Amino acid sequence: DLMLDVARVRRDFPILGREVHGRPLVYLDNAATCQTPRQVIDVFDDYYGRYNANIHRGLHTLADEATEAFEGTREKVRAHLGAAETREIVFTRGTTEAINLVAGSWGRVNLQQGDEVLISRLEHHSNIVPWQLLSRELGFTIRVIPVDERGVLDQSAYRDLLSERTRLVAVNHVSNALGTVNPVAEMATLAHQHGAFILVDGAQAVPHQHVDVQALGVDFYAFSGHKVYGPTGVGALYGRAELLEAMPPWQGGGEMIDTVSFESPTTFADIPHRFEAGTPAIAEVIALGRALQWVEGIGLDLIQAWEARLLQHATESVASIEGLRVLGTSPDKAAVLSFVVDGAHAQDIGLLVDQMGVAIRTGHHCAQPLLASLGVEATCRASFAAYNTPEEVDVFVEALQRVVGMLR
Ligand code: PMP
Repeated sequence: DLMLDVARVRRDFPILGREVHGRPLVYLDNAATCQTPRQVIDVFDDYYGRYNANIHRGLHTLADEATEAFEGTREKVRAHLGAAETREIVFTRGTTEAINLVAGSWGRVNLQQGDEVLISRLEHHSNIVPWQLLSRELGFTIRVIPVDERGVLDQSAYRDLLSERTRLVAVNHVSNALGTVNPVAEMATLAHQHGAFILVDGAQAVPHQHVDVQALGVDFYAFSGHKVYGPTGVGALYGRAELLEAMPPWQGGGEMIDTVSFESPTTFADIPHRFEAGTPAIAEVIALGRALQWVEGIGLDLIQAWEARLLQHATESVASIEGLRVLGTSPDKAAVLSFVVDGAHAQDIGLLVDQMGVAIRTGHHCAQPLLASLGVEATCRASFAAYNTPEEVDVFVEALQRVVGMLR
């Protein structure tokens, strides 16, 4: 069967050649931010070296070239997500801003006292706090879909929580803290049966699997560039055209208007530009397009199969460490290994494995309600990308073994 050529993949990533504390870098913090290939880094040199100009308004060559590359990325994102139309893709600073956009625009006109928004116990703070802020203002109720001890959403509780009061379901596709993959297609069907809409936080899904927003049947879908081999400062919101069209502007400024006047009401641009006030991160958007192209060049099927092998290898290897407990044992799980070790603090483990060149993340992973329900304050998290290798997993597990020995 076809296998990912990891040596070839790695050659695209200059950063993988560096050392940390005199050891070769083993980068296993991909769920926080993933590294960028040469092809993406080169976009910045090319853009600022050849055609840096503000988009849309210009009538000169550089502005045209920049606009074409920028709008070309919109088409790449559309195709990558399987959206029907490019005007359904809004560029944002990332997942966080995409969710805040939905809350601030759709939420502000569609939610009121008596309404309910369902979020899940698995959410990243970015899909919790915008709803809490808005609910303080508008008085709607937030209800929480519980998780079981494996970190799997309780689907029967979800069905019980849905009612005619439910206006929106906001869930992640893949949990960043545990790797749980949620059945968002089924959840979307159920939400729609109750007349509710569904927003999916896809920050951790887009890097690891095919996403087809139409097949999933979701209304909104958000992701970030820096988790999918692209730059920071850019991401996108997919929204069904019908919904976006009915939404009022969120931020005001240039680019998002039709005509501005003091004598008659200011009118606004069509979607998606209505939601893109001000000069966007042009180079970053173009680089995001290049990142998606890079991912498609490798193939998400290969990436997914490769990462599943890495996850399995890591899960089997850490099982030999006494007192180590893996959190998140969903049968459907993406490339995340979250764990705690008896008698050793997560933070100490993270600091000490860094001394051996291994980058993992420790802490609450911006998912404090989830960790609280699992009875822990912090975990260690190793998360994998296409360029990681089984040998790196071995280096990580050996480092972990030594560190745990030192700490106990
Ligand atoms: N949701 C999930 C599931 C995430 O993993 C993250 C990033 N850790 C975010 C949202 C927020 O993404 P960003 O910081 O890029 O806006």
